[in-house]
Amino acid sequence: MLVLGIETSCDETGVALYDSVGGLLGEALHSQVDLHARYGGVVPELASRDHIRRLIPLTQDALRQAGKPLSALDLIAYTQGPGLAGALLVGASVASGLGLALGKPVVGIHHLEGHLLSPLLAEPRPEFPFAALLVSGGHTQLMRVDGVGRYALLGETVDDAAGEAFDKTATLLGLGYPGGPALAKLAEKGDARRFAFPRPMIGSADLDFSFSGLKTAVLTRLRQHGEPDAQARADLAASFQAAVVDVLVAKCLAALAREGLDRLVVAGGVGANASLRERLVQAVRDKGGEVFFPPLRLCTDNGAMIAFAAALKHPAGARGAEAFAVHPRWDLAEAARG
Ligand code: ATP
Ligand code: MG
Ligand code: FE
Repeated sequence: MLVLGIETSCDETGVALYDSVGGLLGEALHSQVDLHARYGGVVPELASRDHIRRLIPLTQDALRQAGKPLSALDLIAYTQGPGLAGALLVGASVASGLGLALGKPVVGIHHLEGHLLSPLLAEPRPEFPFAALLVSGGHTQLMRVDGVGRYALLGETVDDAAGEAFDKTATLLGLGYPGGPALAKLAEKGDARRFAFPRPMIGSADLDFSFSGLKTAVLTRLRQHGEPDAQARADLAASFQAAVVDVLVAKCLAALAREGLDRLVVAGGVGANASLRERLVQAVRDKGGEVFFPPLRLCTDNGAMIAFAAALKHPAGARGAEAFAVHPRWDLAEAARG
């Protein structure tokens, strides 16, 4: 079965072709980072317009890589939510238009389900059940995953997402947008023990997180330092990153223990963070468990995870749907319950 996946929930236009026998056959991605950089964040209207410009050429590119004509598609999948309404509508309408024209079924996919299942695109592939840490720009959640479509929320952030904390702290440090990768790079040259930032909720009995105070703690330190020199900035970055990683690692271990699981998968943009990866692998291995990640390029938004999730959810294909809808706010555990 050949699936076309379309992702337009935020500021990446992603298109990919996934074949249930041959795997990923084509992948095309355009990031709008440069478009939004001077505004310091994603401008929804600009995002929608750019998705319109990019989607058809990227689809042609993915098909060309795969050496497949449009008529070879068996299923068309698009990100149905959560995300920016206007941006989601671009993907939904292109997918539905293609479906109508080709007489092929169209399915909407939950963006977080795409992230959540993306570690199954790497080898070795984790077996169910597993705990999943979803750390992206908009979400920080721990889930129990018993199978495709069987997700239970174990805990989540009560305020900022981990990626959001990285981005906001990066802005405080004068790094560009999105700042997560830039902050991680700066942290490599810093001393993580120089500033003792709090580890919010690390000892709480639940599996929830809180990251907004951490950004404020960095701001307070910055003010004390006036104009920090290069070393102080690197030390601030390293100390901030260590605090986030400490909390994420501790809560992952707690989730595995509480659920009696020994497999952890990590998904979402912050899953690309080298320090988090290293620390998680070590900590989980020490407990006799194993950690699984998506291929690095598939940590952030992409079309491959959407095509792949659709192939897993609809192994026997799907029925065509004429109407389409988007869900800008959409809870995954609730969506899975139907
Ligand atoms: P969501 O999936 O919740 O809707 P999103 O799609 O914007 O949010 P992703 O694309 O999964 O999020 O991830 C982007 C986030 O990951 C950004 O906040 C970015 O700063 C962060 N990020 C990417 N690489 C790194 C890294 N190496 N270290 C830390 N953070 C990173
Ligand atoms: Mg993005
Ligand atoms: Fe995402």
